[in-house]
Amino acid sequence: MTLSERNNDLMMRRREKEIKDETTLRAVIRQSLVCRLGLCDGYRPYVVPLSFGYEDGYLYFHAAHEGKKIEIIRRNNSVCFEFDANAEIVESEEACDWGMRYKSVIGFGKAVIVDDVEEKRRALEIIMKQYSENSFSFSDQSVASTTVIQIEIESMSGKQSGY
Ligand SMILES: Cc1cc2nc3c(=O)[nH]c(=O)nc-3n(C[C@H](O)[C@H](O)[C@H](O)COP(=O)(O)OP(=O)(O)OC[C@H]3O[C@@H](n4cnc5c(N)ncnc54)[C@H](O)[C@@H]3O)c2cc1C
Repeated sequence: MTLSERNNDLMMRRREKEIKDETTLRAVIRQSLVCRLGLCDGYRPYVVPLSFGYEDGYLYFHAAHEGKKIEIIRRNNSVCFEFDANAEIVESEEACDWGMRYKSVIGFGKAVIVDDVEEKRRALEIIMKQYSENSFSFSDQSVASTTVIQIEIESMSGKQSGY
């Protein structure tokens, strides 16, 4: 079963706008600059924009060792995430005819803090791959001073409008 097929809880109202194929879903993620990560702090939601990497059904983030998102993930690792790409305003004469062209992805998953040094290094390479075609190396010190978050994607849906 593909990630977009595990979407029983994600029935989209405008089905004609749904992105159904995995290749396009992955392309939207690849074209996105930032991931908005949604966390549950008890009954209070917390959304934080982050740079990211994506590979084989997993998302990766790097962060400082401390901070609100890390504290929340340690208490509750259920997350929601959002990406969007190619957003453009569609202008018109009438205010009600203005719109937005976009492609976006919303998904759900479970976050874990990665401890293994080699896995952390690999995650940092995946994050850099999102933003650069160059390859980079990471010193033991920079790996040690970084917290890496891995999200196993459980399901995701895609939507496009105006494309
Ligand atoms: C485009 C973009 C890319 C980023 N990439 C990364 C990344 O790869 N790794 C990373 O660690 N951080 C990144 N950041 C910063 C990130 O959004 C957080 O500010 C940072 O991770 C600290 O989060 P925290 O939960 O530890 O906040 P804390 O430092 O614990 O602060 C908590 C409080 O500060 C406020 N706050 C925190 N972050 C923001 C924010 N971005 N804007 C406004 N108020 C805020 C909130 O009110 C929150 O309650 C990025 C930000 C942007 C906009």
